[in-house]
Amino acid sequence: MKWFSRFNFLFLNINLPITYLFSKLTHLSFLFLIAILLHPSLSLSSKKLNGVLITKSEKNYDLQLKARNFAQGELILVKIIPKKKAVVDLELKLTADGEEIPLSTVGVNRVGFIPISPERTPGPMLIELFSKILFVKYGSKKYQIDVQKTDFIVIKKQSISLNKKYTSSNLSKETYQFIEDCTKAKAKAFSSNTEFQISSGFINPVKSVYITSPFYVRRDYNKKKGRPHGGLDFRGAKGTDIFAIQDGTVVLAREMYYEGNFTIIDHGNKIFSYYMHQSKLLVKPGDKVKKGQKIGKIGSTGMSTGPHLHLGFKIGSTILNPESVLFLTEL
Ligand SMILES: [Zn+2]
Repeated sequence: MKWFSRFNFLFLNINLPITYLFSKLTHLSFLFLIAILLHPSLSLSSKKLNGVLITKSEKNYDLQLKARNFAQGELILVKIIPKKKAVVDLELKLTADGEEIPLSTVGVNRVGFIPISPERTPGPMLIELFSKILFVKYGSKKYQIDVQKTDFIVIKKQSISLNKKYTSSNLSKETYQFIEDCTKAKAKAFSSNTEFQISSGFINPVKSVYITSPFYVRRDYNKKKGRPHGGLDFRGAKGTDIFAIQDGTVVLAREMYYEGNFTIIDHGNKIFSYYMHQSKLLVKPGDKVKKGQKIGKIGSTGMSTGPHLHLGFKIGSTILNPESVLFLTEL
């Protein structure tokens, strides 16, 4: 991965006026640049500007890993593309860090998602593909990627100014009961486990995208460590349309204490997207939704200081940066 980063750096520089670039180059680095330009992996490295794509070609299939970055909090798309018809129906099993990654059939390919927790230690990740007939009996192929560190933002503040409703320690009995009821409803929704419902890439939840709060930003008040931001905030006026980012089934759509009007969409294989603080809910539990379908409207309900959409995404119990998910616009 280090090589890719170096290529990336050089390609960014090439956007500068060429004369300026050459004037800054020493003789030695000039030769190095020429060597890089003549290098056969030129096309592969230029793809890094738009994410990372690794293709491992085996006898019977290509294994493809695609992501915005192989880093903490990012989602990796895995694709197994068979080279022969006989490989289409193969029994395959994929693991990453020893955890099984469910594979689903999309067209003739096998597709899965590897979640990299924001809390995972940076370093090598072992990806293993087991097959019943590809190799010798129950053979496996091993691949390794290098998980990079993500520098999540930490903001240090002196005081906190939140609605007293959410900070007060003596809540009414009714409120406590409501919070408990919300927690149970959420746990039930996230326990849903259905068939994979994804057959194409992701799309943005709003028409005009402007991020007001990034993923995993942490606000420390008066030297007390805050909780990292579990999703991504999109700017939007009250009433702005919210769209499903992917096909799925609505498993929750109701008012919650913290999340306000809250929708959870189950995409199958324990993959969920969720939408907070809406002013209006336009779907109900059990509804099948298509990506791009209007599911609600932006608002400021629940624990919110102004109209915005908080988009969350998780696989199992691992929360992921929705930006890395929305990056995958095609499978
Ligand atoms: Zn948020």
